[in-house]
Amino acid sequence: MYESAIQTYLQTHGFGAMSLKAVLFDMDGVLFDSMPNHAYAWSHAMTQFGLEMSAEEAYMHEGRTGSGTINILAQRQWGRDATEDEKQTIYKAKSELFNQRPEATQMPYAHEVLKKVKSCGLTPIVVTGSGQVSLIDRLNLNFPNIFNKELMVTSFDVKYGKPNPEPYLMGMQKGGIKQHEGIVVENAPLGVQAAKAAGLLTIAVNTGPLPDKVLLEAGADLLFPSMQALYEQWDELMKALKNTVV
Ligand code: MG
Repeated sequence: MYESAIQTYLQTHGFGAMSLKAVLFDMDGVLFDSMPNHAYAWSHAMTQFGLEMSAEEAYMHEGRTGSGTINILAQRQWGRDATEDEKQTIYKAKSELFNQRPEATQMPYAHEVLKKVKSCGLTPIVVTGSGQVSLIDRLNLNFPNIFNKELMVTSFDVKYGKPNPEPYLMGMQKGGIKQHEGIVVENAPLGVQAAKAAGLLTIAVNTGPLPDKVLLEAGADLLFPSMQALYEQWDELMKALKNTVV
């Protein structure tokens, strides 16, 4: 069932087979159900400054740096770039609104998927645009004995952010892996674009309100409707990743 997508990936990149060592996970919308909070905070913060942004549009920008998102809205609605001052002020308002929301819970079945990854002897790596200082503590609290803090890419590590391939290239570098030795789990169109631009086989999990087609058009090799569905198909998927050759 998954062979043809894997074959297409292998042929496109000139690999004979996968040799899986690591799984690179995006965080918001994959490990934590935090996107509704981000979307709420973005749309309300923008409104305070006279910029219109629907919650759905916030999902389309997921993964982009804060200043990048603010500038796109400023160009569209003010016809000019946002100043550094405006970017900082709006981003601060967004962060304050976000921090007032109840803390996001684990994405259902994220922990089960992570345990599967570990039990297969694969290394989980986090690649997130998020930059909360307490990130690793929060990951360890929710998913004990899964992550190594040396194997995380956060907003502090990168200059460009998604959809630039930089965060995923850095994740591969930290994990010491090549393209055919890793796969990505992403929920956002820009995250899928970043992972594909880094040359990685990319699994989209559609945990938000966007249509599947947005994630497929971003280049996802495979798509699941939820982390639960990915969990249920995990063994089958691993088998296909191991056995498919071109
Ligand atoms: Mg995400």
